[in-house]
Amino acid sequence: MKLTLSEITNLVGGYRQGADLIVTGVTFDSRQVKPGDLFVALVAENDGHRYIDQALAAGAVAVLADQQHPLAEQIPAVIVADTLAGLQQLGRGWLQHVQSKVVAITGSNGKTTTKDMTAAILASQYKTFKTPENFNNEIGVPMTLLAMPVDTEVLVVELGMDRPGQLTQLSDLVRPDIAVITMIGEAHIEFFKTRDKIAQAKLEIIHGLKPKGPLLIPDDEPLLTKANLSVPVLTFGSGVSNIVSQQQTTDFVYQGESFAIPLLGLYNVVNALAAIKIGQLFQISITKIKNALANLQVTSNRLEYLTSPTGVTVLSDVYNANPTATKLALEALGNLPAHHHYAVLGDMLELGEQAGDFHAQLAPAILAADLTDIYLVGDLMTKYLAPVLVQQLGAKRVHCYLTANIEPLLVDLQQQLGTQDAVLLKGSHGIHLERVVAALMNAS
Ligand code: ATP
Ligand code: MG
Repeated sequence: MKLTLSEITNLVGGYRQGADLIVTGVTFDSRQVKPGDLFVALVAENDGHRYIDQALAAGAVAVLADQQHPLAEQIPAVIVADTLAGLQQLGRGWLQHVQSKVVAITGSNGKTTTKDMTAAILASQYKTFKTPENFNNEIGVPMTLLAMPVDTEVLVVELGMDRPGQLTQLSDLVRPDIAVITMIGEAHIEFFKTRDKIAQAKLEIIHGLKPKGPLLIPDDEPLLTKANLSVPVLTFGSGVSNIVSQQQTTDFVYQGESFAIPLLGLYNVVNALAAIKIGQLFQISITKIKNALANLQVTSNRLEYLTSPTGVTVLSDVYNANPTATKLALEALGNLPAHHHYAVLGDMLELGEQAGDFHAQLAPAILAADLTDIYLVGDLMTKYLAPVLVQQLGAKRVHCYLTANIEPLLVDLQQQLGTQDAVLLKGSHGIHLERVVAALMNAS
């Protein structure tokens, strides 16, 4: 981006002090300042105003600060009532300047994956920019907007949601041409209590949707399909056949064409169907869409297929876990050709009062995956799931461990696992099963 301080003042309101110089970037972290940046002093746990000197020393040329924190007169700055609101208005202003189309993606799971797939498809025909990593909240979204090159034709932006009202705000900020809800799961149920309330909060994404803009929703979610909506709605999810899980890819047929995506897990087919539909709304040919999906760059820590030095297939998904995703990962494990199947499941965190039930309800999916042994890590797994499984599988096949102490688990696992066996590792990030993945991948 490139804006003068007076242009910035016009966009965010407030008033300017000091020289009217040109700003070429925006940051709110004084450790990440690049020369020419505007330093935005956000007030969070740490008050950004305390880091202004450090930011200026690191090359920031101007500051966005609030009225409560007077600055030395000579420091070029824009002074506003609220610096977060200022950052958002600045992002909004830059988006209006760039005038790109906007595809906005929310949902309980699959946002980042669908965003990456969609951006890969759109990039085959348009100058496309997407949310870096997972920057999907009220700070990440404006930062995404401000990182967008001036010649961007389409922006694919991920919008997160953990409370009512948040998506209304984010949707108003990005004014989508197309909005997508990937799925309604149980993420944040601790706060929302019911899936219906989650669905209502996700539907806030239509608040800023442009009048013609369709909303894309999964066709198997009545909480969305039965909602009475005032915007054009398109659905995705059906019309797919011949789904085959290979070792590194998932193949399927859609609209008479064969697709291969370099991702495991049937849910990724659904994510791909959403992305394909968006590509088609942008008039991209099915051949280009197919190639883009086949060559997708995948971020690690999703359901990832690894082979250990000892020849064990390691399905790693240790970045987050919730009931839907865990069941789907177990299904992916069950579909893998292997001598014996094992799973290491860590607690699914942040599920609120129903957490116990959600853990116990994994039992059918575990039985369906036909595991030789199962390893449970954490209090919730041990307390709620283990007793159910012990009844079905017998105590010898169900192993329980404390989160803090991963060593005994490693010893047991490494004794058990042989060449041509497959093991799934899945748990909330707080359980840190990546320690187990690392040990398995380094074992010899
Ligand atoms: P976050 O809220 O952390 O940003 P996200 O919505 O961006 O998550 P992804 O990062 O795309 O989601 O995927 C995270 C995990 O969610 C995957 O590893 C997988 O286990 C699960 N997942 C992805 N897509 C779906 C889907 N369509 N349905 C159910 N689960 C899914
Ligand atoms: Mg994400």
